Amino acid sequence: MQGEDDDFGRPLGFDEAPAHFESGAQKARVMTERWVLGWLACPNCGERSLGQLANNAKVGDFRCGACREEYELKSSKVRFGRKVVDGAYGAMRERLAARNNPNFLLLNYDAATISATDLMVIPKHFFTPDIIEERKPLAATTRRAGWIGCNIVLDRIPHSGRIILLKDSVPTPQALVREQWERTRFLRDTALDARGWLIEVMKAVEAIGHPTFTLDEVYAAEAKLQRIYPHNNNVRPKIRQQLQELRDQGYLEFLARGTYRLKAPRND
Ligand SMILES: [Zn+2]
Repeated sequence: MQGEDDDFGRPLGFDEAPAHFESGAQKARVMTERWVLGWLACPNCGERSLGQLANNAKVGDFRCGACREEYELKSSKVRFGRKVVDGAYGAMRERLAARNNPNFLLLNYDAATISATDLMVIPKHFFTPDIIEERKPLAATTRRAGWIGCNIVLDRIPHSGRIILLKDSVPTPQALVREQWERTRFLRDTALDARGWLIEVMKAVEAIGHPTFTLDEVYAAEAKLQRIYPHNNNVRPKIRQQLQELRDQGYLEFLARGTYRLKAPRND
């Protein structure tokens, strides 16, 4: 089961796009989408049942036939930096509120060898308003004058929300992908504003840089959290409450008074 389902040995090279796709952008889109469909097991359920949504579908590019989870694919031959350009800002904000945003797949490929090099999934529950950045409206001289797009700001997402599927052409074992996916799944059942606090405390814990840490080390993020939540007058108690919630959800454990440990290795 394990060997058969794993991505090791599955080809990273893309099949040629059919000749009727004339533009380079269309060809790249077709090739990358087909490759993902053939290569990727659904990170949510582990089944190899991804199918393509209709081209005009408003949300997402793929849907898993087994668990109905949706994924939106962004591909680039240039490595993604801190920000990824996405669609309309207004639509993205609406999606967050409606909670029907898809999970985000980021694929980098090598244009010379026409093969995948890096693939990452950002589970949808890591999408909070502060990672969606409003871009400047398009200039009046352009065809879509006034249209406002958005950026996804990757470095505002904790490492645990950036799950590596393929790095430098080496796939992550599927068991590890599933473990990382399951580890933060509880965020889905948390309301958007409560999720923001949990995610900020997760980031504060990651910033400490080692899996065992003390409450005082988390308190080092107090000033930063106060800036993010200026109306909260009880940042320290709020931090303790988030740590308790993260413990209850199995994300970390309490060792002794004021000492904690992350339960799984960081994914970076
Ligand atoms: Zn699935």
